[in-house]
Amino acid sequence: RGVRGNFIPPIRSNGNSMGNVTSRVAGGKSDDGIDDSTKRCLEMLCGPDGELPEKLRNLEPRLIEHISNEIMDRDPNVRWDDIAGLDHAKKCVTEMVIWPLLRPDIFKGCRSPGRGLLLFGPPGTGKTMIGKAIAGEAKATFFYISASSLTSKWIGEGEKLVRALFGVAHCRQPAVIFVDEIDSLLSQRKSEGEHESSRRLKTQFLIEMEGFDSGNEQILLIGATNRPQELDEAARRRLTKRLYIPLPSSEARAWIVRNLLEKDGLFKLSSEDINIICNLTKGYSGSDMKNLVKDASMGPLREALRQGTEITKLRKEDMRPVTLQDFEDALQEVRPSVSMNELGIYEEWNKQFGSLS
Ligand code: ADP
Repeated sequence: RGVRGNFIPPIRSNGNSMGNVTSRVAGGKSDDGIDDSTKRCLEMLCGPDGELPEKLRNLEPRLIEHISNEIMDRDPNVRWDDIAGLDHAKKCVTEMVIWPLLRPDIFKGCRSPGRGLLLFGPPGTGKTMIGKAIAGEAKATFFYISASSLTSKWIGEGEKLVRALFGVAHCRQPAVIFVDEIDSLLSQRKSEGEHESSRRLKTQFLIEMEGFDSGNEQILLIGATNRPQELDEAARRRLTKRLYIPLPSSEARAWIVRNLLEKDGLFKLSSEDINIICNLTKGYSGSDMKNLVKDASMGPLREALRQGTEITKLRKEDMRPVTLQDFEDALQEVRPSVSMNELGIYEEWNKQFGSLS
């Protein structure tokens, strides 16, 4: 079967179960129809002996390629210092995840870490940033997948993609697998109402997690959700540490405003202005704050254009700095995306299932 067909063994059968991908795919398109970019990708995953690791044999090359090119990020480029506030989460994660990834020799036996971490809380509060920062700080390969894409975009192929995901992560240890919207994969839907395919996907996922949980693998699974109450008991059991990622505090909001404006050399606000902005943005998420800063930073530009300057003739140095008034105007446009009612649900769930220390 060809590459667009169902199954292509990524190795040539040569009598034993081992194969040599480089010899098989060398020189143009191979007889199995694997194209050059897929070959290169497989070659990069081969061991020093030119063999594909066992975990990747029997997986479809195009799925391995998709994982390597679209899901894997070798340098997520986020550090702790880029994340405002969340000191509690940073402290827990450093101890539970980063140290064990950096020093697996010490974190054995009683100290062996959990392999599953759940980050829950409202959208736009930095859960994905934390996942990337963990990978960055622990020098691990980062894999990002949205669970809802497994059930929507990869209909019927989700299971295979999950196997490829864990297979490639196995070859790229230490690795952090970040599963966004994990609730859509591991929800406690009634089994009779559950689609057969999503039930199989969930089972496959739990099997993979079980696999690396019991072994010596340097793989961490991070699930993120803003609907923690939908996770079932099996999911909770495997995601042993469960951290609440709340809305940013007033200081964290101030930090985001300052940091974003300073990056562009636009910061001229007084500390009094900043205090006023913080008071006006109670209930805003980190992502709302980013949108607010974006909108406010358009203020000087909009004003210059209103006064008749042409955009092509506008000189950057003639533009006035961003002011409190720009923020007040932007507040009319950018509203908080999280409702106060939702917060109650997170806090309740945190009391019941969260890791409070
Ligand atoms: P989540 O995964 O919780 O939905 P993200 O981590 O994707 O949220 O955050 C979205 C964007 O919002 C980030 O790219 C960042 O610009 C901003 N943001 C959110 N929380 C923070 C934070 N604590 N510190 C700095 N920026 C933040």
